[in-house]
Amino acid sequence: MGGVGGETPALRQYRNAQREHPDCLVLFRLGDFFEIFGDDAVEASRLLGLTLTGRDFGAAGRIPMCGMPHHSVQTYAAKLLAAGRRVAICDQVETPRPGLKLVARRVVRVLTPGTLVEDSLLDPKVPLRCAGLFFEPEGVGVAVVDFSSGECNLGGLTGVGSLDELTDYLEAWDVAEVVLPSRATDIGSPVGLAVSAIPEAKFSAEEGRRLMEACGANPGDGVQLQQAALRALGGVAAHGFAGSLAVFRGLSQINWILPGQVMDLDASTARSLEITEANTAGGTSLLRLMDRTATGPGGRMLRRWLRAPLVEVEEIRRRQEAVAELLLAPITRSDLRAQLKTCHDLERLSARCAHRLAGPRDLQQLGVTLGMLPKLACTIQSTGSKLLGWLARDLSASPIELVSEIAAALVDDAPVDSREGGFIRAGFDSELDRIVAGGAEAREFISSLEARERARTGIKGLKVGYNRVFGYYLEIRGTLTNPLPDDYIRRQTLVGAERYVTEEIKEKEAVVLAAQDRSLEREQQLLAGLLERTDQWTTQIGRCARAMAQLDCLANLAEVGADWDWVMPEIDDSRRLILNKGRHPLVEAALGPGQFVPNDVSMDGEAERIWLITGPNMAGKSTFLRQAAIICLLGQTGGPVPCASASWGVVDQIFTRVGAQDDLAGGRSTFMVEMSEVANILQRATPRSLLVFDEVGRGTSTYDGLSLAQALLEYLHDTPGVAARILFSTHYHELTVLDRLPALRNHRAEVLEDPAVGSITFLHTIVPGGADRSYGIHVAQLAGVPAEVVSRAKEILTELESARPLEVPREAGQQLTLPLAGDHPFVEELRAIRVDTMTPLEALQKLADWQRQAHP
Ligand code: ADP
Repeated sequence: MGGVGGETPALRQYRNAQREHPDCLVLFRLGDFFEIFGDDAVEASRLLGLTLTGRDFGAAGRIPMCGMPHHSVQTYAAKLLAAGRRVAICDQVETPRPGLKLVARRVVRVLTPGTLVEDSLLDPKVPLRCAGLFFEPEGVGVAVVDFSSGECNLGGLTGVGSLDELTDYLEAWDVAEVVLPSRATDIGSPVGLAVSAIPEAKFSAEEGRRLMEACGANPGDGVQLQQAALRALGGVAAHGFAGSLAVFRGLSQINWILPGQVMDLDASTARSLEITEANTAGGTSLLRLMDRTATGPGGRMLRRWLRAPLVEVEEIRRRQEAVAELLLAPITRSDLRAQLKTCHDLERLSARCAHRLAGPRDLQQLGVTLGMLPKLACTIQSTGSKLLGWLARDLSASPIELVSEIAAALVDDAPVDSREGGFIRAGFDSELDRIVAGGAEAREFISSLEARERARTGIKGLKVGYNRVFGYYLEIRGTLTNPLPDDYIRRQTLVGAERYVTEEIKEKEAVVLAAQDRSLEREQQLLAGLLERTDQWTTQIGRCARAMAQLDCLANLAEVGADWDWVMPEIDDSRRLILNKGRHPLVEAALGPGQFVPNDVSMDGEAERIWLITGPNMAGKSTFLRQAAIICLLGQTGGPVPCASASWGVVDQIFTRVGAQDDLAGGRSTFMVEMSEVANILQRATPRSLLVFDEVGRGTSTYDGLSLAQALLEYLHDTPGVAARILFSTHYHELTVLDRLPALRNHRAEVLEDPAVGSITFLHTIVPGGADRSYGIHVAQLAGVPAEVVSRAKEILTELESARPLEVPREAGQQLTLPLAGDHPFVEELRAIRVDTMTPLEALQKLADWQRQAHP
C-alpha cells in the first residue's frame, strides 16, 4: 500500500488491523461492504474472482481495492480458508450516525482452519479440531479441542519427539490445525495441517487448570504428562481467545484420553480399510456406506465410533444390548429416527451461544430441540437396555426453564441475523413494547400517508416511497395537472417523476427511525441477555447433545443391521477369531445383490493363529483379508457385522499393511515405507492384535520378497510378544512350505482351471491348503493380453522351470536358498560385493557391466 504519510483515519485503522494480524487477510467493513486493500486486494481478487478496483485515500493516493457485500462475508471467508489463507474480520463496532467522523472498527473475529464455529463454515457431519501440543523430553502433552462443539480431549503421549510421529494421532482425531510454542516449530511439518506458533508463555498450565475447573473436569492427577497436557490446553485456549472465541464459556466437556482406551487404528490401516475415505475416485467409504444418522452430532459421533472402536468387553456389550433392543423394535426405531430428524445440532448451537456468535434463529433452534428431548427420552425409557436407560435419563434432564424462556421471547420463525430486528415477541419486554408503541403513532401516520395525500391532492398516481438517502418521500409521475399543496418541498427530479417531502413527514420519519434504532438496540440487548442465560446450562446441554448423538448412532447401527441382515457378534476376552460367512460390505455393495461369495475365518488364536493365503492375483485375497479386519472393527463399535455368525476375543489394535510397488516417479521408495511400517507394527503389536499383511514383500525382487515374507512370518510365529492373530496373503506359492510352523495354516483362494482351453475362473472362495502355482499367465490372459504374448510366456515359463527350478525345498526347517550355484565368475563377484557401501549409481554400473559381459 502507498506511502506512509497522509493516511486517512480509516486507512490507519485498516493498517493497524493488518499489523496486529500479520498472517491474516483483513476484511475491513466500509458501509455495506467488506473491503480489502493493497497487495492483499490483488491476491484476494484472484482467489475470490472479485473485480479489482481502487480507492483514493487522500495523500496516500489511489490504492487497489476489492470487496464483497457485508452479508456474504462468510461465503468469501470460506473460499479464502479453502485457499489456505487466514481471515481477520474487522467490523464496525458502533453505528454510523450523522456527525460521527470515524466509526470505530475492531477485529471481531479471526478465522483459522481449526477455530471455526460459524455454521456456514462447517460440515455438519465432520468435526473440526484444533490441537495444542506441548513437547517435553519424555513426550508430548496434547489437548484436542473442537471449539465448534465444545468438546475437548486431553492426553500425554510418551516417546514422541516430533510432529511427524503424531501424524496418526492427529489424523485419527480429524485435527485441522496444531498450535505450538514458537520455539518448537522446527519439529517437523505435517502435510495438510495448518500450524500456528504462539509464544511459549501462552502455554500456561495454570490457565489450563482454570479451564478444567470451569468445566468441572477431572484434573487428571497422576496421568502421564499431566502438566504438559495442561500446558497444551492453555496454549490452544489462548489461540482460541486470540480468534475472539469465549473459550471459558464454550467448552462443555473435557476428557482425559488414556493410551489403550480405544482400539488403535493407525492412519495407514484406516486408509487401507477405507474407513472414512474411499481409496478410489468414485468409491465409497465405510462411513458413507453406513451413515444414516439423522443429526450432525450423530454423524460426527459415528465417524468417531468407526475410527476408534471399543476394547472393553463390558462397554461393547452395553452398546450391543442397546442396538439389539432397537433392532428388534422397528416401530420404536422409526419413531426415534423421525424425532431425531427434526432435532438441530445442539452441540454447535450451544457453542455458538457461548461464543456470542449465535443469532435469533440459532437460539430458537436450541430451544426447540431442547424442548423435544423429554419426548425422545420417553421413546426409549421402557427398554431393558442399561445404556438406553442412561441416555433417557440424560435426555430428560433437558433444561426446560430455558426452553420456555426462549419460546416466550422469540417470535415464530426468528431471523438468522439479529440486525434484521423484529424477533422479540410483543409482550415479552415492557421497555421494548414502550419503544414500539412510542413510534406507533408516527408509523401509522406514514402508513396512511399515501391515501391521505392522494385525497388531498387529487393525484391518483401519488406514491409513498423510502430510500436510505432521502428517507420517506412522495412520488408523482407524469405531468402535473393540479397545483401542489404549499407544504410540498421538491427533493429529487427523476426521468418522468418528481419526489417531494413535507416538514411533517420529516418529523414523523425522525420519530419512526429513532424508534427503530432504539427497538433494535433493545432487542439486541434482550438477545444478549438470553445468550447469557444459556451459559449456566452449557454442561447440561452438552450432556443432552451427546446422549442424542449416541442414540442417533445406536439407531443407525440397528437400522443397518436390520436392512442388511447383519448379526450381532459375540465378543469376549478369548483370542479366537471365528467369522462364519463373512462379507466385505464395500465390495458386496459394489458388486450388487447375490454376487458376493461369503468366506469363513476360524482360528482359536493360540494353537492356530496364522493363516497364510496363497492364490493368484485377482482371486479375492485382499478382499478376504480386509473383510476380516472390517468385521472386527464394526463389531467393536457395538454394532452388527456382515456375517452369518461371528465370535472373537477383543482386538486391541488392527494393523493392515499392503505390499507396495516402488513409486519411482514419486522419487521415493514405497518399499522403504512399507518396511518401516512393518518395523513399526512389530514394535507395537500385542497378542491381542489383529495383523493383516497383504502381499508384504511384493515391492522388491522375487527372492528378496520371498525371503522377507518368510522371515517375517517366522518371527511373528516364534516371538511371544507379537503372538497376534495374523492373516497373510501372498502370490508366492513357494511360501506354503511354512506350514511346518505349528500355528500356521495354509489357505488358498480357489481357482477353477479349465485344462481344455488353459483358462481359469476365480471362485473367490478361501479353502484350506496352499496354491501350487501363481497362475500369473492365466491372469494376464484373462486381462486381455494378446494370445501370442500369453503362449510365448507359457513357453518361457516351461523353459525356466526346467532350467532352474524355483522350488523351495520342502523339508522342515530349511531356509530358502538362491539356486545360484557353482563358481561362475559373476557369482563370485556377487558374493564379494559390499552392497551396503555401494551407491545406487555404482550398483547400476555393476549391473550394466555384467550385462555387457553377458552379451558380448
Ligand atoms: P487379490 O487380492 O487376490 O488380487 P482382490 O481381493 O483384490 O484379489 O479381488 C479382486 C476382485 O475380485 C475384487 O475387486 C472383487 O470384484 C472380486 N472379489 C473378491 N472377493 C470376492 C468375493 N468374495 N465374492 C465375489 N467377488 C469377489
